[in-house]
Amino acid sequence: MEYIGAIDLGATKVTTVIADIDGNIVIRLKEPIQTEGGEFTPWRDGFGYYKIAEQLVSMLYRAISDSAVSEIKVIGIGSAGPLSDGAIINSTNIKLPRLVTTYTTAPLYIPLVDPLSAEFNCRVALENDCTTAILGEVYYGAGKDVKDKHSLHLVYVTLSTGFGAGVWNGHLLRGKEGNAAEIGHFFVKEDGLRCGCGNYGCAEAYVSGRGMEKNARMRMINERLGCQTDYGATLRSLALAAAASEGLEKEVDQYPWQILNFITPPLIFAAAHAGDRLAQGVIDDLCHYGGIALANIANAYDPQIITFGGSIMLNQPQLLAPIYAEMVNHINVRAPKVILTPLGEHVVEYGAIALARQLLESDQLAME
Ligand SMILES: [Zn+2]
Repeated sequence: MEYIGAIDLGATKVTTVIADIDGNIVIRLKEPIQTEGGEFTPWRDGFGYYKIAEQLVSMLYRAISDSAVSEIKVIGIGSAGPLSDGAIINSTNIKLPRLVTTYTTAPLYIPLVDPLSAEFNCRVALENDCTTAILGEVYYGAGKDVKDKHSLHLVYVTLSTGFGAGVWNGHLLRGKEGNAAEIGHFFVKEDGLRCGCGNYGCAEAYVSGRGMEKNARMRMINERLGCQTDYGATLRSLALAAAASEGLEKEVDQYPWQILNFITPPLIFAAAHAGDRLAQGVIDDLCHYGGIALANIANAYDPQIITFGGSIMLNQPQLLAPIYAEMVNHINVRAPKVILTPLGEHVVEYGAIALARQLLESDQLAME
């Protein structure tokens, strides 16, 4: 039996699995990403940071020995982007030690493909997490039983810290630089909130964990921190309790704006559940603009199914119905089914297995 190494590299956690060619997972290891103690060294046209590749190597060796697998033939990695040259480039999500240099414009890389390929003497495939996830969905998830993948039209959407999508319309939709279907930056609102990308009114500014926090903070600021009326009062008291649980109530007392730093998506959902209209407004925005973004996806690609994953959606599946209802208001195609991904939080792992398997199959074709 031949075995595959597959890695899901997120912003804060990494999961390493070993699977057989059929996608049966033999072992799974999960750890926080270790970024302390590493340093940048010159690499290509900038600097490379090897600490994360070292962690992946040691996790893979541990997985190999714990599972008593003799060797891995190929490795697939699904990673938070942006990606370039087999590396993460200028990572916005993974927090790294500061680089002290005079070359302030030099790109900072986290090399992944070269170090893993050299260590295990095998080929390594790297794709961004949404592209990886749609492959997982096609081969092991919602598209698993469709034999002819050319007849399959499937979209995977993740709703977590960010908002992203991967599209399969008979084949993987990539775009000129692998950035197709940037659903998070679909324009949904004139004069809307500022997005992390710098533009105003992107879907992600409302439909993501980061967007929910920003939307709630802006509303709290407009309401003078929820002190004046009922509007926002529950969210305010939950945020105060969160500050107190970290021993920071005095700081918040002294600098009232500090309370904004304690607003998180779970608190917003809890406040809305308790009847807070400010928090409910944030969730209504998420469903409204999420539905518009989904309608754009449906109108553009006419998929049979849209599957949803990501920590926020997996924890709050009641969001599906209102997002679907809003989508239906804006489409001119037969409505796709909108469901939770059957692969749950493991969708990127399965995608990394699919990536690795594609490499293995292309090697075998080349040998024939
Ligand atoms: Zn944007």
